[in-house]
Amino acid sequence: MKNIRKYLYPILILIIFEAVAVTLWLTKNNLFYLFNFSYIGLSVSLGMILFIRKYKHARRIVQLLVGLYMLVYLGLICNENMQIEGFWYYLFTGVFEAATIHYAVAKIFGPLIFGRGWCGYACWTAMVLDFLPYKVPAQPRKKIGWIRYITFAVSLIFVATLFLAKAGNIERIMFWAFIAGNIVYYGIGIILAFAFKDNRAFCKYICPITVFLKPMSYFSMLRVQCNKDLCVNCGKCKQVCPMDVDVTDNSRSRKNGTECILCMECVKNCPKKAL
Ligand code: SF4
Ligand code: SF4
Ligand code: SF4
Repeated sequence: MKNIRKYLYPILILIIFEAVAVTLWLTKNNLFYLFNFSYIGLSVSLGMILFIRKYKHARRIVQLLVGLYMLVYLGLICNENMQIEGFWYYLFTGVFEAATIHYAVAKIFGPLIFGRGWCGYACWTAMVLDFLPYKVPAQPRKKIGWIRYITFAVSLIFVATLFLAKAGNIERIMFWAFIAGNIVYYGIGIILAFAFKDNRAFCKYICPITVFLKPMSYFSMLRVQCNKDLCVNCGKCKQVCPMDVDVTDNSRSRKNGTECILCMECVKNCPKKAL
């Protein structure tokens, strides 16, 4: 009984993903959804179990399991553009498939429940960036977050132009846009990480998806909270945070609160178990 209680959250997450998997399988009459969401649910639950068992690389395991699946299987093998351009593409065609479902679950409505869990555990761009040496930013945060609105607008204009120009074989163009987009993201992400001495610089300043993620995660049910009775203000949590979050402030408007990727580094490193 004690063991079941200990693993309650991974079990709960698995049940939620299975519910989504079965619902989409039956409503869309497509077995792929059963496989897809079961796989992701199992990967996330496995990561949570490893975390509970205090395995150091639990988050990275999930990130690789989900990130590689999205990038290699869905993107390269199944030719699904799961980047923001793919979302616009399916949105314009009025089809609730692949990228639209993915965005609805992981990046638009899901963050109301699990915040930016996508960024900590599944994103294939961050999966590579997290291998770089600057796990904790070595420089103060820059005030250039506005760039994300430009990249967001560029992605929208790019896909809208294809539709307005009635471009032929847009599906093929979207596949190549996925390849090119990833090469550009990785290139810029790696250059910025070294320039700013911060693995997550791309996430903080460039990534267009944060235009969805940030406002939605503001209302996230899942948040790291600080027990003020236990906290001794040692500052360790802020020193290890890759996203510069003021995690000791429990208010929703805490500094960089919508940047939290739920990596749990602060929780693991708090000497007083206050988080
Ligand atoms: S901010 Fe963008 S690039 Fe960074 S982890 Fe989130 S979705 Fe991926
Ligand atoms: S690491 Fe723990 S004790 Fe130290 S400031 Fe953060 S929450 Fe408080
Ligand atoms: S260290 Fe804590 S506050 Fe910072 S991103 Fe990770 S979970 Fe969020």
